Amino acid sequence: MLLAKAKQYLQQYFGYESFRNGQEEIITRVLSGYNTAGIMPTGGGKSICYQIPALILPGITLVISPLISLMKDQVDALEQVGISATYLNSSLSMKETRERMHDIQHGIYKMLYIAPERLESSAFLEQLKELPVSLVAVDEAHCISQWGHDFRPSYLRIRHLLTQFSKQPTVLALTATATPQVCEDICEALGIIPESAVVTGFARTNLSFKIVKGQNRLAYVKQYIETNKNEASIIYAATRKEVDHVYEFLQKQGICVGRYHAGMSDDERGRQQDLFLQDDITVMVATNAFGMGIDKSNVRSVLHYQLPKNMESYYQEAGRAGRDGLDSECILLFSPQDIQVQRYLIEQSHYEERKNQELHKLRQMKDYCYTEGCLQGFILQYFGENDPKPCGRCSNCVDERTSVDVTRDAQMVLSCMIRMGERFGKTIISQVLTGSSNKKVLELGFDKLTTYGIMKDRAAKDVADLIDFLTSEQYIGVTSGQYPVLFVSNEGKEVLLGKKQVLRKEQMQIVQASTDDTL
Ligand code: ADP
Ligand code: ZN
Repeated sequence: MLLAKAKQYLQQYFGYESFRNGQEEIITRVLSGYNTAGIMPTGGGKSICYQIPALILPGITLVISPLISLMKDQVDALEQVGISATYLNSSLSMKETRERMHDIQHGIYKMLYIAPERLESSAFLEQLKELPVSLVAVDEAHCISQWGHDFRPSYLRIRHLLTQFSKQPTVLALTATATPQVCEDICEALGIIPESAVVTGFARTNLSFKIVKGQNRLAYVKQYIETNKNEASIIYAATRKEVDHVYEFLQKQGICVGRYHAGMSDDERGRQQDLFLQDDITVMVATNAFGMGIDKSNVRSVLHYQLPKNMESYYQEAGRAGRDGLDSECILLFSPQDIQVQRYLIEQSHYEERKNQELHKLRQMKDYCYTEGCLQGFILQYFGENDPKPCGRCSNCVDERTSVDVTRDAQMVLSCMIRMGERFGKTIISQVLTGSSNKKVLELGFDKLTTYGIMKDRAAKDVADLIDFLTSEQYIGVTSGQYPVLFVSNEGKEVLLGKKQVLRKEQMQIVQASTDDTL
């Protein structure tokens, strides 16, 4: 019965005929009073999962969201369709806050958006707990997990908030990026039983993923933009400096391009964003500061000029392509040097324990670049889907190079690792295999090993690439910690025992040198 009402409101307020995958299940659970987690891809339609219950449930729905800049837009959009909503955040004056609070206390609003930082004020909590809150919706719920890519300590205050009400509100946690570990954390922190996590498929079947290696990146971008004229593209670069560099280059080529990064004034950023949203500029070069919550549906491609820092960020940014459901491309331009840039950024910006975790995520990002399996499949597996089917459209699925049997090579690498005691990184392992007389190799006596120099007909770099490949295919494992070492995984042991064959696509000559060592 309540569901019939939900369907009616979907049409009446939002103008949609039917629920999308996951929405109905989430809304039904929430209306029945179960604490629920909803994990849906970006653009999947998470907002409606709490907006419709807010209309049906008595009292008020509290929405906790970290995206202060979006609150106003969301509230305006709700008001436009006739849903009374408001927000409280640091952009308001004391007077405005007081007035709003007064209206809230008088039951004028069905929905109240707040930033999590508000929960740190005990005076504010005192006021909140007097309100008839039926539902607490936690947006971007992965921020509650130390394992998430965007942990925010103030999210931990939500738990405290929930204990304050005399009548327990229902909790709905929503996110687009939750690995199984993060999902567990969310459920644990917010009192959701694991069976109440509704996970819809992560696959975005209209996106084609592609990895481009060993190309001049500027030339690639220029050519790509020129062959896809008049189509909206976002080009993400890792630093402000790189954004400026790519922006200036494209501008010199006569391409009409915008840019966006935190080093620009608010006004200028806002102006550039509007030009892009209105299709006056079709190409936007930006750091990851751009795009949070921007609902531009016709972005046809997202290019990553550099490696992002982890798969969560990558999928979130790449996922800004094709929100209208039409075919779109997500291209990652990979050069091994980028790993150094990201590692540097991680080492600059994090506490010790967090560093290891971030480095681990970076390593998985790197595996994405070296895998020969389906790229979409890799992403889905990362987010916890079992045995996803190959997409048939990513650059690996359409790769027509023949596969060669490299079992013998793999065995050489793995057995050398075992003889070296599985205590080292990629560089020295490849030096031993290629018979280098490097000081460290000799000092450690590795020139006495039977595997010393068994691959001396190859370049050390090719051997290092082979090791990266074996790592991305999980024949080699990597310990966590700041000085990770490589070890032979169970799969790798099967290769050594001759129980498993290793196939690899025929290698092309790639010019760029690998400078990556410890990852
Ligand atoms: P998310 O927060 O999951 O990224 P949003 O809630 O912003 O996604 O929704 C993305 C888009 O999908 C919005 O434009 C929204 O209006 C639209 N949408 C949501 N639910 C439906 C539905 N059932 N049918 C059609 N469109 C929908
Ligand atoms: Zn694929």
